[in-house]
Amino acid sequence: MAEKIDCAVIGAGVVGLAIARKLAMSGREVVVLEAEEHFGTHTSSRNSEVIHAGIYYPTGSLKARLCVAGRKALYTYCGEHAVDHRRIGKVIVACDESELVGLGKYRRQAEVNGCSDLRMLTRDELAALEPNVRGVAGFLSPSTGTIDAHGLMLAYLGDAEAHGAALALVSPVVSGAVTRDGVVLQVGGAEPMELLCDTVINSAGLNAQAVARSIEGIPPETIPPTFYAIGHYYTLIGSSPFNRLIYPVARPDWLGVHVTIDLGGQVKFGPDFAWIDRIDYRFDESREEAFYAAIRRYYPGLEDGALQPGYTGIRPKIHGPSEPAPDFVIQGAADHGVCGLVNLYGIESPGLTSSLAIADHVHDLLSRKP
Ligand SMILES: Cc1cc2nc3c(=O)[nH]c(=O)nc-3n(C[C@H](O)[C@H](O)[C@H](O)COP(=O)(O)OP(=O)(O)OC[C@H]3O[C@@H](n4cnc5c(N)ncnc54)[C@H](O)[C@@H]3O)c2cc1C
Repeated sequence: MAEKIDCAVIGAGVVGLAIARKLAMSGREVVVLEAEEHFGTHTSSRNSEVIHAGIYYPTGSLKARLCVAGRKALYTYCGEHAVDHRRIGKVIVACDESELVGLGKYRRQAEVNGCSDLRMLTRDELAALEPNVRGVAGFLSPSTGTIDAHGLMLAYLGDAEAHGAALALVSPVVSGAVTRDGVVLQVGGAEPMELLCDTVINSAGLNAQAVARSIEGIPPETIPPTFYAIGHYYTLIGSSPFNRLIYPVARPDWLGVHVTIDLGGQVKFGPDFAWIDRIDYRFDESREEAFYAAIRRYYPGLEDGALQPGYTGIRPKIHGPSEPAPDFVIQGAADHGVCGLVNLYGIESPGLTSSLAIADHVHDLLSRKP
């Protein structure tokens, strides 16, 4: 016999936990089902830990709206919940004259998106702010920051649990079915169970499409294709030559090998970008040469031997090579016809920054009449 519950959130990454928190705080009974032995072991702990300002995303997209709203909410939340973070600021650098056009485009898009605090930098201003960075111009985004993603997830989980939510670890959702009484989930792991849920949130990150496909009754045509793109990070030996995060002018699908400085002062370069066909976090050390070349475009002082392999992360893509980067896909009943079900697909960057706003959006979707 299936055990009846109110809400199941599938996946305890930063997005699943933010949603669980929101639903629990709005009075719902929530169980978070997580396949692994700990929360947040996939994309939520394998990213740049940057609080993005919301510069790049197309006008009116979910990415633009949820990033800007999420960033504001996140700074407030971190302040109130003592989550370690730093509003360190970021400089985007045009390495040569040909990149000035890109810089201007960012600035206009950022303003449309509601980032009103950007400041263009001349070559001299850039050199004064970041003496070790070479470029012909830049702009400064003061509201970009860094955050302890693990601390954030702990805080979300703490709020959710304080409002009655339960986290079930080693509880992979293996299949399910949409029925007249709700969505039935088959949960594997050490203590397999069957749950009948009024509400299901599929926030399984890299596995979200596979989870949706395993639930009978979700129209297959609403499930996007699955693609993965790996990113490697190298760390810099020694102290930071930078005062802020440094980004080159980006490609359409990727922000380029950029500099982040974690809360301990460690400089990380990355992530790079390569399509892969399965979830495999192994570090490919043959990328080193390409990293040196990419970094030296804006940091010519990088010495041989100064980089050491860091870690990798995998982007949960819903589009393939040469297709334009799509928006976040967050589907409610109006999209797939199943009451009480929300599927989240393609929650790549800026998902961490947007997590609180994504949770509000999911809550709103559930409140709408079908
Ligand atoms: C290289 C990289 C850099 C990034 N940098 C940034 C950044 O600087 N700033 C930013 O805002 N965003 C960034 N992002 C994006 C951000 O990390 C993600 O948007 C966010 O972590 C997604 O969280 P999630 O909860 O959706 O997914 P995940 O963290 O992947 O969580 C999904 C969870 O679902 C679980 N799961 C999977 N299948 C099942 C199942 N069948 N049953 C139960 N549980 C299951 C998994 O074990 C996992 O814990 C970056 C992403 C990448 C890849």
